[in-house]
Parts: sequence; structure tokens; C-alpha cells
Amino acid sequence: MNTLNEFSFPTHIIFGPGARKRMGETLLSRALKRPLLITDQGITSLPMTAEICELVAAGNCDVRKFDGVQGNPIYSQVQAGLQAYRDHNADCIIALGGGAPVDVSKAVAVMVNHPGSLFDYEDRSDAKPIDKPVPPILAVPTTAGTGSEVGRSTVISEDDTHVKRIIFSPKLLPNPVFADPELLLALPASITAATGMDALTHLVEARLARGYHPMCDGIAIEGLRMVARNLRACVDYARNGTGATPEHLTARGEMLLASIMGAVAFQKGLGVTHSLAHSLSTVKDMHHGLANGIMISYAMAFNAADASLQPVFRIMAQAVGAPEESAGGFLRWIDELREAIGIPTGLAGQGVTDADLENLTRFAFQDGCHQLNPRTVSADDLRNMYAQSLRV
Ligand SMILES: [Zn+2]
Repeated sequence: MNTLNEFSFPTHIIFGPGARKRMGETLLSRALKRPLLITDQGITSLPMTAEICELVAAGNCDVRKFDGVQGNPIYSQVQAGLQAYRDHNADCIIALGGGAPVDVSKAVAVMVNHPGSLFDYEDRSDAKPIDKPVPPILAVPTTAGTGSEVGRSTVISEDDTHVKRIIFSPKLLPNPVFADPELLLALPASITAATGMDALTHLVEARLARGYHPMCDGIAIEGLRMVARNLRACVDYARNGTGATPEHLTARGEMLLASIMGAVAFQKGLGVTHSLAHSLSTVKDMHHGLANGIMISYAMAFNAADASLQPVFRIMAQAVGAPEESAGGFLRWIDELREAIGIPTGLAGQGVTDADLENLTRFAFQDGCHQLNPRTVSADDLRNMYAQSLRV
């Protein structure tokens, strides 16, 4: 993997080792002069952030950094980012990081020309329209998980309740995306594993989601093959401190693309795993990828009990190379992967107790993702899945 490739699907993506070095010329060609770089507390002091700032400055730009993003993004972080944008008199945003900085970047971009509260523009029937210009967002992903860099929505939580709000507009699609596997080489094993399980969950839930969408189905299956080939290896490379070997770069690059493909595929829809995970983030502030990584086994066992879904499970089992091409074989493949990469088997060690069941169930049932789950989900079903995950 030594060459740069460019795709315009679903946005312009510059993919390959060193893709980030195109930053300066891109800004120059678009006459962008005053970027605000939005990143998070975990990334701000890493050498890559300083390097990106240098690359931006080489484009004859005056760049300012805003690093007030931490954990699951909340509204006050967006407001602080907007203030930084205005203070700098910025003309574009560079999102550097995983899903959180990208989502905060999109929300700040909305608020630049759309007055009132961000949540006035929430994706619902009575929303105010996002009909004014939204400044350009350039994205540099540093994890392979959410795929938010190729998504048209942002998820921001309320500060006090942590309830997630979704803002959607095609104008939020970053352009371009600098998908550079070199930036993922130093990602710790635990984050590699958790974010990778998020990508896997997007691919699985998209393939299973209700609705007719052969394009998303095809992308989901190819993405699953890529996760099966590379996620375990990426975690091993992280554990071993492997540097920039060709094999490591290839594995990181394929995971980066698989996460992008997951986000493309879930335009079809997601499912019950994401409702369970969203609630765990709301109630317990749990990392999104970790929550999916734990709950996917319980959610897929629930789906696998539906006889009509067996053909899809067989297709997925075949794609990942499970020893048995069946729903059972696919579930066992997920469990083995989880164990190999260090994702816990249940919620008990995560600070979740029976006392949380009521709240977890309530928020999960309110979440929209399970509406597209291929098997209808009741509040009791959700409670059972949480309860099962607490007993192991
Ligand atoms: Zn997700």
C-alpha cells in the first residue's frame, strides 16, 4: 500500500499513506485561509496534531486549534467551538480525530450561519431548515470506527441529560476526507478494538436492516470481509508496538476503508445493537464502540432466533469465513473475535448494575435505531438483552 487513491464516493476521499500531506495544496486550491482545527483532548498533544498544523500552515493558512472535545460530544463543547470559530474569524473547519471531533465540527459548522439552539435543527418534522451556507469541513480520521467523516449527520448530547440529538443535512458531508492509515499506526489496542467493533456493528446491522437496498447490502458484505481480514491483526500490531511495516499499514488502511464502508452502508439503517449502545452512552457515558462491541452478541442472538433471517446470517458467516455458514457459526465468530481483541463478554465489569436496567431500557426503547431492526423489538426484549449481558 504505497500509492494514494482518490474516490468520490460518497464524498471526495484521498486514501493512502501520506494522504494528509495533500492538506496544504487542497486549502490553497480552494482559497481557504483561516481554518479552525477541531480535535479532542486525547489527540491535541500528539505529534500528529502539530504536524497537521504545519501542513496547514504550509498552505499559506493561519490555523487555530480548538481542543475542547472530550468523551461523547455534548452541546457546550459545540458552543465553545463556535466561539473559537468566531474569535478566529475562521472560514473552514478541519476535523481531526475519531467520531467526536468530526461530530462537533459538523455541529459548529451548522451554527455558524443558523441562529438559535443547535437542537432547533434536530432531524424531526418540526425542525428549522438548514438552508443557509455551511462552511467547508475537511476531515482527517484518526480511528477506524464511526465513519462519521463520510456521514451527513452529527450526534450531539444534551449536557444535563446526555440524551442524544441527531442533526442531519447533506451540507454536513466533509469534503475532502484525508484517509491516511499512517495516522492510525499508534492507536492503542483498546481503542483499535472498540472502534473496530463499532465499524463491524455498522456493517452487520446495515446488512440486516429492514428495507430494500442492494447497494448498501453489497458494501456491507465487502466491509465485513475486510474487518474479518484485518481487525484482529490491527489489535495484535497495537499490542506488539509494531511500527510502520507494510503489513501494518495495509491492515490499518483496510480497517479505515471498512469503517467508511460501514457508514455508507448504514444509510440503509441500523438496528437494536445501536439502541442498546446509545442508551449505555446516555446513562453510563460508555464509549460507543465498546458498548456496541459488548451488546452485539446479545442483539444478534436475539435476531438469529428469527427463522426468516437465516439466509442473511449465512451470507455474513460466509463473508467472514466462519467455520460454519449459519447463524450459529456467525455468532461464534463474533464471540471469538471479541475474546481475541479483548472486548468484555458482558456489562457487569463496566459499572452497570441491575439498578440501571430501568433507565437503560427506557432510553434504548426511545432510540430510533431499533425501528429498522429486522425483528421487532419490545421494551421487554431490550431489558432481557441487558439482563443477559449482566449475568455473564
Ligand atoms: Zn456506531
